[in-house]
Amino acid sequence: MQTNSRDEYLNPVADETIDYRADRGSEDRRTPNSEVPRKWEEWQKQSDERELKYFIPDWADLVDPRYDFEKERYSNSNGSNDRGSGGWENEVFAHQFYDTPSYDGILVSREVLQKSKKKKRALEELADGNGGIHRYLRVPPDFPVMGDCGAFGYVDQEEPPYSVDDVLDYYTRHGFNYGISVDHLVFGAKDEDGRQYRYDLTLRNAQEFYSKHQAQGREWTPMAAVQGWNVNSYVEAAKQCADMGYDYLAIGGLVRSSTEEILLVLRKIREAVGPDVDLHALGVARFDMINEFVDIGVTSMDSATYLRRAWTSRKDNFWTRDEIKFSAIRVPGPKRSLRNSARKTAQTEAKKEIERKEAKTGKSLSEEEKETHLEEAVDTAIGKAFNEKLETARVMEQRCFYELRAYDKEDPDALTVPELVDLLDQYQEYVGRECLRNHYAAMLEARPWDACDCTICERAGIEVAIFRGNNRNRRRGFHNTRVFYDLLQQTLKTGNSVEIQRGADIVKVEYEGARVSEPHTQYHMFE
Ligand SMILES: [Zn+2]
Repeated sequence: MQTNSRDEYLNPVADETIDYRADRGSEDRRTPNSEVPRKWEEWQKQSDERELKYFIPDWADLVDPRYDFEKERYSNSNGSNDRGSGGWENEVFAHQFYDTPSYDGILVSREVLQKSKKKKRALEELADGNGGIHRYLRVPPDFPVMGDCGAFGYVDQEEPPYSVDDVLDYYTRHGFNYGISVDHLVFGAKDEDGRQYRYDLTLRNAQEFYSKHQAQGREWTPMAAVQGWNVNSYVEAAKQCADMGYDYLAIGGLVRSSTEEILLVLRKIREAVGPDVDLHALGVARFDMINEFVDIGVTSMDSATYLRRAWTSRKDNFWTRDEIKFSAIRVPGPKRSLRNSARKTAQTEAKKEIERKEAKTGKSLSEEEKETHLEEAVDTAIGKAFNEKLETARVMEQRCFYELRAYDKEDPDALTVPELVDLLDQYQEYVGRECLRNHYAAMLEARPWDACDCTICERAGIEVAIFRGNNRNRRRGFHNTRVFYDLLQQTLKTGNSVEIQRGADIVKVEYEGARVSEPHTQYHMFE
């Protein structure tokens, strides 16, 4: 299969070896698929002129566009007890959800890409002129895709697992637009000698990478990975790489540094290499840096922070263009919650009992005896929790979903915000979880998913505000990424910095009197 036109990447035909069913244009139903290529072209023009470009690291975050939220089933489910599953075949990337991408490019780490066998096979089939990485990511062939080796993945190893020759071939075979040289993170070293070794190795690799890239006439743009542990070491490495001939440097290892340190390093590098060398800040894209990045002349940056906060942050899961962040509403599955809370209580109790036993007999139990005792206690407690609580928990859980959806639809019988928060609180308490009452109240009161006109929020409604499972959590991450990209453009245009506030700090909800809902044991499914 030989594909070349942009249209074929967006609306490709089914292939015999790999199932491309989900490989279509935009999932934004408001945009006809025939319009998508034109919109992309328009976006591409704007992106090319951008002073500061934003790349998203690919972490295989895909969602099933036809996921059934009410039944919690994937589109490939066979009904009854089969929930189906997610995969590259039936899921889509964030940029497929919108009529234009929410980033100027994608950064793909080799470590992440080659983790699963299935993915490796798909990539192999697409390699060597069959669409390559662009086909895999379902983007047009001229869409910027940057590759690196994913040094975080092998930070603990003595040497990087890839040779320079191997990586040169890898970027070429998969059709990357940019390829970063093979680096080894200096902060992963055990001592100063190790640090120096990694630093020198990274520079040696950069030299070999560039020489071979030139000699072999590879068509993609080579980028040097720049490492360091303080301003001087960074500047020295950057200078050496610029002297080798690179005109695009990827500054790495900055993720753990403060904003001030990052800006200082980048500023000094810029002074040292002059205005004509492009700089990419690896893994750092923060609102409070945007204006400074523009000032320094940083060409591009990447970060998955705004995507991943949707599910990694405790309170800041949903971001809005009004510069407010809200907590997603947890409706955890009852089984796992009951199991975890039963385990925790049983372990504490069992440990106390062991101590009592030991004190009483004056003999200490062997490790094996202790372990057996703990395991038995945990098993019994989980069994008991399931017997006594699972059925009620399930009813309560379903009631939460039912009432949240009724609230979303502004059903005349829907609960008020305080009533709804009470309901959520009672369920979470019953299954042993903590409820962030004020945060949920702010989220429900403000209804930011309703105010957002992005295709995710438009289609998923309140599901995108609920913390549960990949299909809700990643959708929220896609929305956040979109918001970040929009706010970035706004800052680039106006120069006004973005300051995000917490919803719970500004949206106040009045609680009158005691709990409104009846005790949980009287709940009936969808009464
Ligand atoms: Zn949205």
